[in-house]
Amino acid sequence: MRVRFPPSPTGYLHVGGARTALFNWLLARRSGGTFVLRIEDTDRARSSEEHTRAILDGMRWLGLDWDEGPTFQSDGVERHRADARRLLAEGKAYRDFSDPAELRAEAVARGIGHPSTLARARADALGVDEAGRRAEAGEPHALRLRVPPGETAWDDLVHGRMRFDNADIDDLVILRSDGSPIYNLAVVSDDAFQAITHVVRGDDHLSNTPKQILLYEALGLPVPVFGHVPMILGPDGKRLSKRHGATAVADYAAQGILPEAMMNFLALLGWNPGDEREKMGRDELIASFGMERVQKKSAVFDTEKLGWMNGQYVAAMPASQLGPLVVARLEAQGLEAEVWASDAPGPGTAGFRALVDLLKVRARTVDDIAVQAHPYLVDRPTLDPAAVAKHWAKDPQTVRDRLQGTFAALEDGEWEIDALEARLRAYGEAEGVGAGRLIHPLRVALTGSARSPGIFDVLVVLGRERSRGRVLDALDRLAAPDVFLS
Ligand code: GLU
Repeated sequence: MRVRFPPSPTGYLHVGGARTALFNWLLARRSGGTFVLRIEDTDRARSSEEHTRAILDGMRWLGLDWDEGPTFQSDGVERHRADARRLLAEGKAYRDFSDPAELRAEAVARGIGHPSTLARARADALGVDEAGRRAEAGEPHALRLRVPPGETAWDDLVHGRMRFDNADIDDLVILRSDGSPIYNLAVVSDDAFQAITHVVRGDDHLSNTPKQILLYEALGLPVPVFGHVPMILGPDGKRLSKRHGATAVADYAAQGILPEAMMNFLALLGWNPGDEREKMGRDELIASFGMERVQKKSAVFDTEKLGWMNGQYVAAMPASQLGPLVVARLEAQGLEAEVWASDAPGPGTAGFRALVDLLKVRARTVDDIAVQAHPYLVDRPTLDPAAVAKHWAKDPQTVRDRLQGTFAALEDGEWEIDALEARLRAYGEAEGVGAGRLIHPLRVALTGSARSPGIFDVLVVLGRERSRGRVLDALDRLAAPDVFLS
C-alpha cells in the first residue's frame, strides 16, 4: 500500500487536512506501507514556503512522519506537459484555439450546455493537420481531454459503488494556453509516477475523481483505489471554518493541547473503532484503524470533546514529562521571572513534580496547569476579591482568630495528609465549628482563591514553611481589614 498526503501550501495545516493526513498515515503504518508527502505548489501565486514549513511542522508535531518526500508538484511540470502531449499525439486530446470568454459567449448564444461541446466541434471541423499547422505557427491554444462516451465508475472505500455518466463530464482542459498543466492532470500524473495505490482524501474531491479516472484510463495507467472521507462541520452544522474558532493545528498546540490527544481526537472525526473505546493511543489506533468504519456522514468538530480528551491525556501523563511542558507554558505566559525568583520548588524538583501531579487531574490543558500552578509558585498569592468577599470579609476578626487557631493545631505534628486532616477536624470539634468554616478561609490564605485541590494536599505541596508564611501574611491582612475591604 502506497498512500499520500498532498497539501496545497496556500494556508496552514488545518484540522481537516490533518485528519486526512492521519487517516493515510494510519493506513500506511497498519499495512507496513509507504506514506508519501507531496506539496502541491503549482498555484504559484497562493503557495508560500512559509506555509510549506508550517504544514511540515504541524505534521511533525502530530507525529505523522512520512517515508518519502516532501516532493514538490512544481518539479513535475515537464512530466505533466509530456503526459498532456502524449494524449494529444494519441488523439485522446485535442487543441482548442478558442478564446475562453468568446467560447463561453457563443455557447450561451447558441444554447449549448457546455462550452467544451463547442470546442470539440470546432476542433473536429478544423482537423488535426490544420490544428497542428496553426500550433506550429505559434498560435496559442489549450489542450482538452476528449471524454469518451459511456460511464465512469469506481468502488469507493467509503461511499461504495460510484457512477458518473460521461455525458455529464466536460472535455476538461488539461494544459492551459500558457503551457501550465491543470490541477487534475498534475495530480494523476504525480500519483501514477509515485505509484500511489490508494487515494484517500476529503469528499470535497468527489467530483474530481471521475475526471481523474478518465485521465488514468486515457494515459493507460493503473487506476488507484479511492476513498473519500466525510467533511468536518462546526457544532452548528456548517462547514468548519474560522468562525468556529481555531482551525489551524498550530493554534491547538499553542493552547496546550497535547499531540497524542489531538491525534486521538482527529482519528474519531469520521471514524470509530466499532466499540465504546474513545481514548486510544497511537499504537492502538494503528492496530484498529481501517476504512471499513469510516462513515459517510459529516463529522462534527466538538472542541468540548477535544478538551475532555486532552484532559484524559494530561491526567495520565507522568509529571516528569508534563513538568517541562508546564514550565514552557509559564515562560510563554511571561511568568518565569515572577515565579522562579520565589522560594517555590524549581523546575525539575520533586516538589514541582508533586504540584504538577496534584493539578493535572483537574486540568484540561497544559495551560490550565500553568495557570493553576501560578499561585503556588509565587511568593505571595494574589487574592481573588470574590473569594475574599465570600470567606474573609464578613467577619474578619473571627476568621483571623480561627485561622490562627487552625494553623497552630496544624503545625503541632507531622506534615502529612491524614495527620493534618485529623488535627484540623479535632480542632474544629473542640471549637464547635464545622470543618468547612475552617477550610475555606485557610484556602484563601494559602492560594488566594476559593477553589483548589483538597486543602490537605495543598498544605503538603506547599510544605510547612511556605504554608506558615502564607498564613502569617493572611493574619496581617486580616488584622487590617480596611486594606482589602476597601
Ligand atoms: N492539494 C489537494 C488539496 O489540498 C489534494 C487533493 C488530493 O488529495 O488529491 O485539497
